[in-house]
Amino acid sequence: MRKGFVIRFIRRYAGRLVGVSLLNVGYVLLTIFTFLMIEPFVKLLFRGSLENLSPLSSYIVSIIDDIIPFGNLQQSVALIIVCAALLYFLRNFSAYSSQWMMAHVRSDFLYTLRNQLYDKMISLPLSYFTRQNKGDAVTRAVNDTQEVEYTVLTSVQKFLTDPIALVCYIVFLFYIDYQLSLWAVLLMPVSFLIIGFLAYLLKRSSKTYRERLGVLLSHVEETLAGLRVIYSFNAQERAYRKFTQLNRQFHQNQKKVYRQSYLANPLSEFLGVASVMVVLVLGGTLVLSERSSLTPELFITYIALFTQIITPISNISSAFADYKRGEAALDRIYEFLSIKDAVGDAPDALPVSEFKDKIAFRDVSFAYSDTDVIKHLDLEVIKGQTVAFVGQSGAGKSTLADLLMRFYDPTGGEILLDGISVDKFRVADYRGLFALVSQDVMLFHDTIYNNIMLGCEATMEEVVEAAKTANIYDFVMSLPDGFNHVVGDRGTALSGGQRQRVSIARAVLRKAPVLVLDEATSAMDTESERLIQQSIEELSKQCTVVMIAHRLSTVRNADCICVLDGGRIAEQGTHEELMAAQGAYYQLVVSS
Ligand code: ADP
Repeated sequence: MRKGFVIRFIRRYAGRLVGVSLLNVGYVLLTIFTFLMIEPFVKLLFRGSLENLSPLSSYIVSIIDDIIPFGNLQQSVALIIVCAALLYFLRNFSAYSSQWMMAHVRSDFLYTLRNQLYDKMISLPLSYFTRQNKGDAVTRAVNDTQEVEYTVLTSVQKFLTDPIALVCYIVFLFYIDYQLSLWAVLLMPVSFLIIGFLAYLLKRSSKTYRERLGVLLSHVEETLAGLRVIYSFNAQERAYRKFTQLNRQFHQNQKKVYRQSYLANPLSEFLGVASVMVVLVLGGTLVLSERSSLTPELFITYIALFTQIITPISNISSAFADYKRGEAALDRIYEFLSIKDAVGDAPDALPVSEFKDKIAFRDVSFAYSDTDVIKHLDLEVIKGQTVAFVGQSGAGKSTLADLLMRFYDPTGGEILLDGISVDKFRVADYRGLFALVSQDVMLFHDTIYNNIMLGCEATMEEVVEAAKTANIYDFVMSLPDGFNHVVGDRGTALSGGQRQRVSIARAVLRKAPVLVLDEATSAMDTESERLIQQSIEELSKQCTVVMIAHRLSTVRNADCICVLDGGRIAEQGTHEELMAAQGAYYQLVVSS
């Protein structure tokens, strides 16, 4: 995917890139014209006349003379200086215009890339984020895009400007004196090689630098996430020791990177000056020999122009190194973007807005990787019923609920909604039939009202109604600011039970035909448990409820209890039927 990057980039921004290049040509030509003013200036100063100028300078002087005639010596010098200043102003204006255009290209490219990454993040299979580090996705979205900005985009910009500049300058240098320029061009590869070697060293150590920074940041992230555990086990000392150790390694590497990059400037400057010196010696000999057409005035112009080629040369060599460094980040980004989405719409997907009769699992199997976690399972969820999944941890309860809501597609068998395979429906429509109350309740740092409303259009009355059904209304009313109470970061200002009831209210408000409830495993106070139980009973009268039950006490009233064992349904029936059968369910109840 990354392979076509340059082509796609050029195609997308073709107009602007052509504009940038043209403005750069203008910039280089204006620089050359500015420097060409040196020759008449020096001539006027030392010889008091404008005779015997080189053809190009005399052409420019004649143009100026046509517009504003040269007067006495002083006026002529002033006029030349004003012209040089004007040309310099136009040169910089053209440079700024090119950067102004490039600013859009750079920021628009990054803007689109970030959108694509975020879009990918929210359409990836859930299993991606459990298997792979979530931090890795964040690193790709934040650090890697930043790296692309620093390296790839900067080098693209340099490739658009510096080769043009280099070619134009060299052509002019040859035009002024080809003999001297031949020598000068021979010096170039030497500088290229030395600067290139330094860039290679820098690239190597900055790779380690980024890796170590990643490790350091993960440690900080981990510390913040586990702060509660760290405090309770008095593990601050240990965490701090680990941090300082990682920080030291990072610091050693950072020092190296700083030192190498600090070396780049003085070294390339020295190389530049050294080549100017060589040109001075060679040119000086030519001027003194009087065999060449190179006059002292023209030679000064030549030297001034020659110094201009140093920057493009070092830019081009560093742009190669930068691009190489950024390619790694670009690869990581495109690798992420090319991961297959969890489930997608078929081209002719059907709309669906209601659940009429039943959802049926027919011989359904599912594997996260190689081994099946759901094995040839048959199941029916009848409209209006309350179905509960029970079983040991790891039996496949959550996976089954995820399949039901089509977070994954089965690897074998099929799931039918009212007789039609669910993959025939639009994913968003189908998921709209369900409201999920998950175990790890996600509340946002916002008011209770907004947390209940999440992604839903509803009136205040409806919100109040939902809060009542979820048994959270009385609690909300007991707060001084009621529904405007802010729940704290991730809802930490509320207890576990309160959080779950807010999320039940949120699910109720969606009025989805099926409510999927992943019962909280963490110990909840009996009052909260009673209130939640009450609201589930209320809800089961209004809609179909599918419960992942971790506590058997909550499933007694379910119409169908499915006991899962190793990805299969070991038995199913009502509480009474299963107790009478004295099978797996009976064993679970007895042992609990
Ligand atoms: P339960 O909800 O009954 O505790 P799960 O459905 O969570 O069981 O898990 C069933 C099996 O699938 C377990 O063996 C678990 O380790 C495995 N599993 C769950 N989620 C993933 C995942 N994202 N990637 C790989 N294996 C998983």
